[in-house]
Amino acid sequence: MNKLVLFDIDKTLLVGSTFHYTALKDALSEVYGIKNPKAVKKMQGMTDLKIICETLSQENMDLQTIKAGLDECMELMYLKFRDALQKNDLKVLDGVKILLENLQRLEIPMGLVTGNIEAIAWLKLEKVGLKKYFKFGGFGDKIIKRSGLVKNALDASANNLGIVKLENIFLVGDTPRDIIGGQKFGVRTIGVVTGDFSKEELILAGAEFVLEDLNDTKNVLDIILKC
Ligand SMILES: [Mg+2]
Repeated sequence: MNKLVLFDIDKTLLVGSTFHYTALKDALSEVYGIKNPKAVKKMQGMTDLKIICETLSQENMDLQTIKAGLDECMELMYLKFRDALQKNDLKVLDGVKILLENLQRLEIPMGLVTGNIEAIAWLKLEKVGLKKYFKFGGFGDKIIKRSGLVKNALDASANNLGIVKLENIFLVGDTPRDIIGGQKFGVRTIGVVTGDFSKEELILAGAEFVLEDLNDTKNVLDIILKC
């Protein structure tokens, strides 16, 4: 039976990339002249594009001006992130590497569903040695809504692997947005409490399974293989 597992990146697979947001803010400052913008409320799980647009909207910038600078802003953000990554470490969360290794051994393909712009997502995974497990995904360059990321990941999956039945696709993430995005397309959802949200919040969002973390490899594999 063909299975597929889709993973969020930040606070699901790894932590420590606070300088990602710094790169975003520095790019906004250079491209749009906005210094020290107000932080967007509840941005966990938002796509990078959405965070950029919301931040600028809060500064009363009109849509046309926002759109005109987007490509330059995201390119600059990538370059700033890449520079910062050379001086900073990221940490893979406990259990992740063993889980991915086991999924690969079982020939279960893995994809990404992340709000990160694509180039930054691959840089993060490369830095911590996880890039080799993934070939495709849905990314936050052009997508505002989290559910759009899931759609793009499913389209990419269909192109790479052929159609996998929705009931055999699992999405793993740490925010209610991850869970809601997955549910919208009818994939199975596994919430992990390794981010800023509690078990109760992830259950409330509709997660089918909620785990403290991905440390119990056997338990995670049981869910994916037997459910
Ligand atoms: Mg996350």
